[in-house]
Amino acid sequence: MTTFSFEFFPPKSDKMADQLWSALPTLAKCNPAFMTVTYGAGGSTREATLETVMRMQKETKIPIAMHLTYLSTPIHTLNQLADDLWEKEITHIVALRGDMPDTLSWPLDTDQNYFQYTSDFVEGLLSRHPFEISVGAYPEKHPDSPSLQADLIALKKKCDAGATRAITQFFFDNSIYYKFLEEAQKIGLSTPIVPGLLPIHDFTAMKKFAARCHTTIPNWLEDKFSGLEDKPEDAQKVAQEILNTQVECLSKNDVPHIHFYTLNKSQITVESCQKLIKHP
Ligand code: FAD
Repeated sequence: MTTFSFEFFPPKSDKMADQLWSALPTLAKCNPAFMTVTYGAGGSTREATLETVMRMQKETKIPIAMHLTYLSTPIHTLNQLADDLWEKEITHIVALRGDMPDTLSWPLDTDQNYFQYTSDFVEGLLSRHPFEISVGAYPEKHPDSPSLQADLIALKKKCDAGATRAITQFFFDNSIYYKFLEEAQKIGLSTPIVPGLLPIHDFTAMKKFAARCHTTIPNWLEDKFSGLEDKPEDAQKVAQEILNTQVECLSKNDVPHIHFYTLNKSQITVESCQKLIKHP
C-alpha cells in the first residue's frame, strides 16, 4: 500500500493562518504517515515554523517533522536548536542547505563555524541526537549542480551521512522520477527516494516557481491549462486530473510513499489521497 505525507508552510498573515488551520483537520483525516513544516532560508521563520509544528503536534496525532536549513547559521546555534527540538519531542528533521542569499556564493569557502555541505549538517544533527532525517533530492538536478551525476553523488553523501529518506523536488513527468531512481540505483544508493508532488492551485504562480527550481513544464501541461486563466473551477478540475494521474501511475509502479506539497490547502491533495486509500 502506498503511504503519503504532507508539507505545510508557516502562515505569514491571519488570512493565511485561517487557511492552514481550516485545511489541517481535513488533511489529517487522510491519516498521513507524517507531516512537515518548512523553514525560511537563514532561519527567517524559525519562531513561526516552531509554533506551527508545536500546534500541529497538539492538534493531530500525526508525527510532525520540522525543516531546518544550515546556510548563514553558525554550527553552535544549530546545535542549540537541535537540542531544543529534541527536548520538545520534534525528532524528525528535514535537513536542507537553503537557497543561497546574495551575500554568499556556492560552493562555500570552508569555515569551521559553519557547515559546508548538507551531508555535514546531517552528520552534525545525528551527533547531537538520533533524529530521523529526511533530505532533498532533485530528479532534474539541483540548479547549482554541474551535472545530474555530481548531484547524485551529493545525494549519496547525504544518505551515507545517515538520512532515512530523500524527498524530491516536484516534477510533472513521472518518467523523470523513474529515470532518477535508476541512476540512483546505479551508484549504489539504496535509501528511499520519495516523490514530491505539487498540486497546481495557480498555474501562473507554479510556472514562476518551476523556473526557479528548473522543473520542466511539459508542453502537454501548458496545453491543458491554456485558456483557463479566468476559469478557476475548470483549472482546478484539470489540476485534479493531473495529480490523480501522477499518483495512480506511481502507485501502480509500487512506489511505497508519496509526499504532497499541499501549499496549506486541502483541495486537490485530499481527493488524490482518498483515491490512494480506496485503491491502494
Ligand atoms: P544540497 O544537497 O545541499 O545541494 C545543493 C548543491 O550542493 C547541489 O548543487 C549539490 O550537488 C551540491 N552539493 C551538496 N553536497 C555536496 C558535496 N558534498 N560536494 C559537492 N557538492 C555538493 N528551502 C528552504 O529554505 N526551506 C525549506 O523548508 C525547504 N524545504 C525543502 C523541502 C524539499 C523536499 C526540497 C526538495 C527542497 C526544500 N527547500 C527548502 C529548498 C532547498 O533548501 C534548496 O533547493 C537548496 O538550494 C538546496 O538544499 P539541499 O539541502 O536540498 O541541497
